[in-house]
Amino acid sequence: MGLVREHVPGLRIVQKRDIWWMRAIGRLLKPINPEFMTRYTTVVGQTVYLPRPLADFPRDALAATLAHELVHQLDMQQWGPFFYVSYALTPLPVWRSHRAHWERRAYAVDLMLALHGGGEARLVAVETWLRGVFAGPDYGWMWGGRPAAATYLKPVVERVRSGELQKDAPYAAILEAWVGPTSG
Ligand SMILES: [Zn+2]
Repeated sequence: MGLVREHVPGLRIVQKRDIWWMRAIGRLLKPINPEFMTRYTTVVGQTVYLPRPLADFPRDALAATLAHELVHQLDMQQWGPFFYVSYALTPLPVWRSHRAHWERRAYAVDLMLALHGGGEARLVAVETWLRGVFAGPDYGWMWGGRPAAATYLKPVVERVRSGELQKDAPYAAILEAWVGPTSG
């Protein structure tokens, strides 16, 4: 994705399971998130760690994943060590973690692309799925309880639905890059 290369010129895409310390983290997180190695993409600095070989990613899924990770990379560039510390150092179990703040910013991309590609029905489906992601163990219960997660996600969902979020950086540029190549 050209937009990612523009902001992250040293972008590296590797397979999570090829990296020894990712495998170590995967073992550590297994009781909490057994799918860390096989389902979740992780980003650290300029490197994106994919849970599957690049060839197994449908093109759109890869582009959407990289767009989500781009938001993290832009936040890392802006906030530096504070990003990593606030993302990682929330003790478990947590009910209101700063991790949720960063993930809500990144999952706004997933919501935006859902509305763009599949309309209201797809937006609602992704919103419903995200409630579980935020309230559940995948990210260490970053926002405790489904109703609380629903409330926390709602303003972003509404901004996507109204088209307001699509006017803001970095979402406007991401949507433009997304629409560009597919509309030829
Ligand atoms: Zn994320």
